[in-house]
Amino acid sequence: MKPVAEREIKGTRLALIGAMQDEIALFLEGMEGGTSEEIAGISFYSGRIEGEPVVVCRSGVGKVNSALCTQILADRFQVKKLIFTGVAGALDPELDIGDIVISTSCQQHDVNATALGFDSGMIPYQEVSIFKADPRLIRMAEAAARKVCPGKVATGKILSGDQFIADPEEVRRLRVSFAGTCVEMEGAAVAHVCYQNRIPFVIIRSMSDRADFDADVNFAEFSAESARRSNDIVQRMLRNGDW
Ligand code: SAH
Repeated sequence: MKPVAEREIKGTRLALIGAMQDEIALFLEGMEGGTSEEIAGISFYSGRIEGEPVVVCRSGVGKVNSALCTQILADRFQVKKLIFTGVAGALDPELDIGDIVISTSCQQHDVNATALGFDSGMIPYQEVSIFKADPRLIRMAEAAARKVCPGKVATGKILSGDQFIADPEEVRRLRVSFAGTCVEMEGAAVAHVCYQNRIPFVIIRSMSDRADFDADVNFAEFSAESARRSNDIVQRMLRNGDW
């Protein structure tokens, strides 16, 4: 591989991440002139989608995998913007399966240093624990989602933790404690790394379940459809945006 300084990067390099293979499969299908390289067990695919230079990768599930992946995108690919798409469990009772949530901010709901006197979800000795998404990317994602999605499009705080939530009691706790709109396992880790590296980001999640006792069944049934929706939104953003 060429050293970073020699690598030719034309235009804005946008990163598109998904946690699972079906979440990036459609991006790869739409990619032109792709090359790939593997770093730390993650495959990074560089090419163009809708004419824009992008790097696509599957981070794997959970906060460590997605943080690792995001730092590599910052260090080795010098990405200038980042979009993470995937599925999530709805926390807002107004949301149905298939609806879209676009992050205004993200927080790790499983950070707990309350025994030391810190509020739940607050990372000790760090100024910021709620990471704000980029206003321009939010606007672009919202506009695109409204065009391509038949269901509701909401903006709000996305919660992440290393847990698949499938319990209405947990849903209530996450609503009350954190005012979360939906819950998943990667967004806030990506947001944290983007914050540290000053990379504008947005997380786009399609609701695959309601994080309740039916969550596992709903997840399996709706994740393919949800992935299609996320892909449609990003393609429209790429087509319409001034990157
Ligand atoms: N591929 C596995 C499941 C992966 S874990 C399977 O098929 O069984 C679930 C993935 O979906 C994570 O990437 C997470 O971000 C998201 N997700 C969807 N619903 C969720 C929920 N209720 N709680 C937490 N994460 C959820």
